[in-house]
Amino acid sequence: MKILELKNISKTYDSHFGKIEIFRNLNLSIDRKQNIFLFGPSGCGKSTLLNIVAGLDSPDNGEIYYQDNLINKFDNNHLKNDLGIIFQDQYLISELNVKDNIKLKNDNIDQIHSILEFLKIEDLVYKFPNQLSNGQKQRVCVARALVGNPKLIIADEPTSYLDRENADLVIKLILEASNKFKLSAIIASHDISFKAYFDKSISIIDKNLVQC
Ligand code: ADP
Ligand code: MG
Repeated sequence: MKILELKNISKTYDSHFGKIEIFRNLNLSIDRKQNIFLFGPSGCGKSTLLNIVAGLDSPDNGEIYYQDNLINKFDNNHLKNDLGIIFQDQYLISELNVKDNIKLKNDNIDQIHSILEFLKIEDLVYKFPNQLSNGQKQRVCVARALVGNPKLIIADEPTSYLDRENADLVIKLILEASNKFKLSAIIASHDISFKAYFDKSISIIDKNLVQC
């Protein structure tokens, strides 16, 4: 069964030099329990694609189906509740401890504790962001994405500010969580070395997706 499908998506941006075409008739289908790697160099359109998948940006043309239902930009609340998003930047609020940062997304305390335990960061629960390393911060963001029972995890370059060891750990944790909780995930990176961890890898070439 498909969790999400993009059909014939076109997207252009206006710039000082005129219109830049990012996608032309792009198609993407994400199956339930599938983990997809979105690879490509900076500027190829990864964030644009993930923002469209997340309903944070809208295509000029084309359709988005969520669990076989057509959705549009005026009606994507059910989609938002079902998503867990991890960004390149952590967007943690410095005045709040780890637990309270995560509570902003979903206040199921028992679930927050069990997810922190699953990610082996339960000892960070009362720490503040400035007391955490970059790797720990990004693991907190993985926890935040997982609370509230999302169905699809979207991660946009989640390892950009991490060293190799932490980058590997974060990608593996996202995939482990996705498999354990039977979710789907789409993870973007310009680092091809993660490809080996995924069953499906795609890249953006000539304004469309290709297997890579
Ligand atoms: P990636 O995430 O792969 O680095 P992006 O999706 O951020 O790529 O960007 C794809 C292209 O679209 C780039 O050329 C970028 O400059 C352009 N772009 C992205 N967002 C905007 C915007 N809001 N306005 C104009 N151009 C944009
Ligand atoms: Mg990007």
